Amino acid sequence: MIDFMRVYADNAATTPISRAALEAMLPWLSEKCGNPSSLHGFGQEAARELSASRGTVAEAIGARPQEIYFTSGGSEADNQAILSAAHAGARGGKKHIISSAFEHHAVLHTLDALSAEGFEVTLLDVHSDGLVRMDELRAALRGDTVLVSVMLANNEIGTVQPVSEIGSLCRGRGVLFHTDAVQAVGHIPVNVEEMNIDLMSMSAHKFHGPKGVGALYVRSGVPLEPLIRGGAQERGKRAGTENVAGIIGMAAALREAASDMGKNAVYVSALRGRLAGALSKIPHSKINGSQSRCLPGTLNMCFEGIEGESLLLLLNEYGIASSSGSACTSGSLEPSHVLLALGLSHELAHGSLRLSLSSYNTPEEIDHIISCVPKAVSRLRDMSPVWEELENGKRKHCV
Ligand SMILES: *Cc1c(COP(=O)(O)O)cnc(C)c1O
Repeated sequence: MIDFMRVYADNAATTPISRAALEAMLPWLSEKCGNPSSLHGFGQEAARELSASRGTVAEAIGARPQEIYFTSGGSEADNQAILSAAHAGARGGKKHIISSAFEHHAVLHTLDALSAEGFEVTLLDVHSDGLVRMDELRAALRGDTVLVSVMLANNEIGTVQPVSEIGSLCRGRGVLFHTDAVQAVGHIPVNVEEMNIDLMSMSAHKFHGPKGVGALYVRSGVPLEPLIRGGAQERGKRAGTENVAGIIGMAAALREAASDMGKNAVYVSALRGRLAGALSKIPHSKINGSQSRCLPGTLNMCFEGIEGESLLLLLNEYGIASSSGSACTSGSLEPSHVLLALGLSHELAHGSLRLSLSSYNTPEEIDHIISCVPKAVSRLRDMSPVWEELENGKRKHCV
């Protein structure tokens, strides 16, 4: 076999752990065994590390340490932020929430649960560029709106929302603002003060930290209720013995990501630019979402006449790990709710591919992707009855 290369290009699903994070964690997975709630030396050493990690995470996003609550990840942070804000609103008679149509399911399914409890939810359109419009948000705000939840960067197409403007509008109207910043933190600058954010979700495994740990930022004075009850950990807002090693790994990964952010963003967006340029030469293909307001590493494309799942499997045979939608929806027959929210037809949305890069990818890996994707697309089109109809004019091309 000639040069078989394995390329991991699914960093929006999860990232490989950094050496710095792994090394910081190792002692806490072996000899350092203390419970931070214990009063002896072992426990107090863990408590000191926990507190240092809280400081590191806070500093990376312009927050204060007492505004950081560690969680099991981004999903838990989203659930807690939204449920907590909604219930606080309901106590004051406010039961209207605004969000967007292409949020992560951790947000959308939480909103579904709140709708079933009698809350009213307005989902903003994200238009074909994957961006919400400020005038539409302004028009959707009501006297009984308690919360606006709009993600900072989208996990499938990478578009970055005008979060500072959203935050300042909400602040002016006395409405809480939550943002799911899981895809953004560690990749693009995020500052909760400058962006007027009240609640913000983060997850370590999206920036080369370990899986199963994340954090919720909660501005001082914003009400927060626990999802998990039982102990006084996280100032009573999240019971359960802390994931000490995970939290230490998260802080180490974030410290590194923050200090290399500028350099990484330049490097990764150059890789992505080259990839986008080469792959968009494939006939009847389309790049999804705004290319001027997007994450450095996420590229989402549609190829007419083929199934994204088949493309993913074929690329896997070429050693390339990609995604054809979000990890949570793959396996289901429904096309991605994100691509449908952009106004793509079901048929086109089915033919989507997400390649998400990180600073760990090399130029040679990008060359490999550039040589394999066109081959894979034509192989699939050769076998596709839909493509045949498009080619012989029985169906109309839409891109
Ligand atoms: C990955 C992801 C989540 C979920 O985070 P977990 O830590 O895996 O629970 C939530 N929101 C977005 C935008 C994500 O990309």
